Amino acid sequence: MEANALTANAAAAQLDVERVRGEFPALHQQVHGKPLVYLDSAASAQKPSAVIEAVDHYYRHDHANVHRGVHALSERATNAYEGGREAARRFLNAESVSEIVFVRGATEGINLVAQSYGRPRLGVGDEVLITEMEHHSNIVPWQLLCEQTGATLKWVPIDDRGELLPDEYQRLLSDKTRIVAMTHVSNALGTIVPVHDMVVQAHAAGAVVVIDGAQAVPHVDVDVRAIDADFYTFSGHKVYGPTGIGILYGKHALLEAMPPYQGGGEMIKYVSLERTVYNDLPYKFEAGTPNIAGAVGLGAALQYVKGYGLDAIAGHEHRVLEYARQRAESTPGMKLIGTAAHKASILSFEIDGIHPHDIGTVLDHEGVAVRTGHHCAMPVMQHFGVPATARASLAMYNTQAEIDALFAGIDKVKEWFN
Ligand code: PMP
Repeated sequence: MEANALTANAAAAQLDVERVRGEFPALHQQVHGKPLVYLDSAASAQKPSAVIEAVDHYYRHDHANVHRGVHALSERATNAYEGGREAARRFLNAESVSEIVFVRGATEGINLVAQSYGRPRLGVGDEVLITEMEHHSNIVPWQLLCEQTGATLKWVPIDDRGELLPDEYQRLLSDKTRIVAMTHVSNALGTIVPVHDMVVQAHAAGAVVVIDGAQAVPHVDVDVRAIDADFYTFSGHKVYGPTGIGILYGKHALLEAMPPYQGGGEMIKYVSLERTVYNDLPYKFEAGTPNIAGAVGLGAALQYVKGYGLDAIAGHEHRVLEYARQRAESTPGMKLIGTAAHKASILSFEIDGIHPHDIGTVLDHEGVAVRTGHHCAMPVMQHFGVPATARASLAMYNTQAEIDALFAGIDKVKEWFN
């Protein structure tokens, strides 16, 4: 399903947000004597008890190394690890677990594709097409690849709302384009990119498409087969799972044709001093002892999210975001950066004459956690001519009352500096 607009299901679905909040222990604390209002989930989301307990249980009862042992604990650890993979397969609606590679996060997923798919294939005259609103982790790996291969990096510009220019995309795509790499949801602007339409166009030009889903999977129902993504990657920690674990989905035939990214244990079937026979997918890409507990926690997180359903989560977040947008528009001196028609979760803003870091510091004293800076998207900052923004980002556990707390904090910021 194209998750571009809020679906009718999402608009209608209800989320029991008080119940959700009760399941996230870290939300129930005071910061500087004020109740914590956590509006920094785009950087990293808090964890529900289901995830914390899955990791705890794994370490208390089941831990051993995976895939190699004949003993009971190794078998349980392997089952738990592979259970995380199956949860990710279901979450993305991939056809097979052989297409689900565990990585450290979206950053590693993109680097893996750049080096293993791109490096042997690209050369002078080839082009990689990204967009102006990518996170650094979907820019720098392609710059490195272009330096290594002589290929050329191009990018699709955005307009002043933070939407990609479709005519420019069409114009930039050509038979020289070998790889299109784009975000599904922008971390700096919140723009939801119409990835399915863009994949269709990329395929018509003969390019493969890598989608950075780091900011999409907590908010949008992702179906890699409906999108027809060639590669799709995300990080566990932004979708309520542990840090240090993520997923790279790749179509079987593409992964099969790619050389390993790293060498070591686990990724082999046979080694002699002369040669190595690589393991089957997905293990060919998982050299060394993996992040087993991370995979267990990620599996629990993805099941947790699916349990509530992306429709209910997206509908709730959309209502809270819309409330925040309306409040921002009626706040003198406040300017939103990123006003795309289809947005998820992100409220990036400036306040006239006040540096974003000062906004963030005063808000922190009010117990409100927002992020300030360039959000690892310096080209977006350059487009809007700002060094940094303040960014409030929403998750399934945020409420309208917390948006009121944010705006009460913004009143304090203005009192302080004006
Ligand atoms: N892409 C986007 C859009 C992101 O927001 C982030 C994290 N801020 C990343 C990629 C990188 O994720 P990680 O650092 O978890 O690898």
